Amino acid sequence: MKKISSGLAFTSNQTIAIRAALLDWFSINGRHWIPWKLKADGSQPEVGESLNPYEIWVAEVMLQQTQLKIVLPYWQKWMQVFPTPFDLAKADEEEVLLCWQGLGYYSRARRLQQSAQMLLNGVATTSYIESKFWPKDLESWMALPGIGRTTAGSILSSAFNYPSAILDGNVKRVFSRLIASSVPSNKNISLLWKISDQLLDKENPRNFNQSLMDLGSTVCTPRNPNCLCCPIKKHCIAYSSNSDPSRIPVKTNSKPLPKEVIGIGIVCDSSGKILIDKRLNNGVLGGLWEFPGGKQENGESIVQTISRELQEELSIKVDVLDELISFEHSYSHKKLLFIVHRCYLLEGIPKPLASKEVRWVKLEDLHRYPFPAANGKMIEALFKVLEADNLPNLS
Ligand code: SF4
Repeated sequence: MKKISSGLAFTSNQTIAIRAALLDWFSINGRHWIPWKLKADGSQPEVGESLNPYEIWVAEVMLQQTQLKIVLPYWQKWMQVFPTPFDLAKADEEEVLLCWQGLGYYSRARRLQQSAQMLLNGVATTSYIESKFWPKDLESWMALPGIGRTTAGSILSSAFNYPSAILDGNVKRVFSRLIASSVPSNKNISLLWKISDQLLDKENPRNFNQSLMDLGSTVCTPRNPNCLCCPIKKHCIAYSSNSDPSRIPVKTNSKPLPKEVIGIGIVCDSSGKILIDKRLNNGVLGGLWEFPGGKQENGESIVQTISRELQEELSIKVDVLDELISFEHSYSHKKLLFIVHRCYLLEGIPKPLASKEVRWVKLEDLHRYPFPAANGKMIEALFKVLEADNLPNLS
């Protein structure tokens, strides 16, 4: 393993050689089809030309926790629904969440809209078309909600070809392998940023940063790095030391996720409408709609859990009917086992005691509301059961 002191990780000759090798490789092998990296006419930008910062910004936020192939259709739909930052700033929050539905980490969507509102506050509706409208430094971008250093660096280098380094997941992996780091990436951040700053090609930062991301995504992949085809293998210590690059970056020992059982009630009234509630605006799923329910307590049956939760959170009494579906769903910090029952309203008018709002909706209108992915499975199951029963509604 190479020991890195406080100095630079590579000599100036190595730096020049790595830059050249990456840029040459990128010109032939780069992912030149990514739509937000192209001009409006579909052609590639020249070195001094700017690209649409709004399109890049939206894409970078979507990519924060999600892969490119998943992001692509979301980005395309987003650009149809909110083609300019003004459309986004003035949109209803629910419309924004609906457009994001399925991408997860919904606070990213809310912050994107808040940032658009902050940027556009008090400016003319067409001002965003002019390049001078957009922030041109890291600090101004990072002052907006939900934008960290790598997102800001990527927007600046991609949109304006400004020399700003990046350090996303792909780039961290490439650098960790280049230096054969024995430390988990998240414990080595300041050194990895130093490497990114040192290697950045100040003359051509847009293509250089993109070459790193493309290399990480297509060659220096997490499990099967294709080192023989790598343009920088002769500078890579993980490769030259005959160690197994796929073991780098080393993982932190993670504890098993805690598991909770959640009872959910899909409640219908006498007209067949279904009860949904809107989560408070905090946490990753804030502002989304869901079916009511909550955590099972020790010694409780799932039927008791659902009855209690609906009484406590909505002030209603229900008859808990048959089980509709049960499944596990993992979040970054916990694993949930959802047990979902159909319920019938016996007594009470639902009140949003633990939510922002409650609403009775027709089955066919459920798709108009943004739901977390787990609730999407419940809706699917509900439709299947109703189809099988050949019933017009739940009543
Ligand atoms: S030689 Fe292999 S491990 Fe090193 S950067 Fe290239 S693909 Fe990654």
